[in-house]
Amino acid sequence: MHIIQENCGEYRYLVRNQYTGEKTEVIIDPDKYDLFLDQSIFITRPEACPFFRFDELSAKGYCTVHLTRPEICRDYGCWRMLILDAGGKRAGRIMCQRHLASDDEQLTRLFEEQINDLVEPDDAIWDETVLSILRQAGYTVLT
Ligand code: SF4
Repeated sequence: MHIIQENCGEYRYLVRNQYTGEKTEVIIDPDKYDLFLDQSIFITRPEACPFFRFDELSAKGYCTVHLTRPEICRDYGCWRMLILDAGGKRAGRIMCQRHLASDDEQLTRLFEEQINDLVEPDDAIWDETVLSILRQAGYTVLT
C-alpha cells in the first residue's frame, strides 16, 4: 500500500510504500485528472491505493499514475494484497476488486473455498478476515 507523504503541487505527489519504505515521486497521468479528482471510491473502498480509481461505466480499474508508478508496482502490478508462499516466492495477488490473480493451484483452491464467497461490505474487516485465512494456511501477505 502507498501512502501520500506530500502533495508537491501540479498533480505531483511524494509517496511512500508502507512495506518497503521506498519513496517515489509520482505524477497523475495527464489524461486521468478528472478520474483522479473523483474521490468517491474511498466511500466504499477506504483501503484502496490513493491512486486507484474505478470507472463504473466501463467497469474498469485504473492506476492514475500509471506512467510514473512506483517500482514495486512495475514489478508486481497493482495489488491490494501480495501473497508469498513459504519460500518467499510470489503466489498471487488480491486486487482492489477483491479478486485473485494467481497461477498457484493451492492458493486458487483456498481462495475459492474460503474467501470468494465472503459477504463483508466493510473493507477493513474483509482484509483482516482474508489475512487471517491466508496466514493460517502458511502464506506471507504484504498489504
Ligand atoms: S499500480 Fe496500483 S498500487 Fe501502484 S500506484 Fe497504481 S493504483 Fe497504486
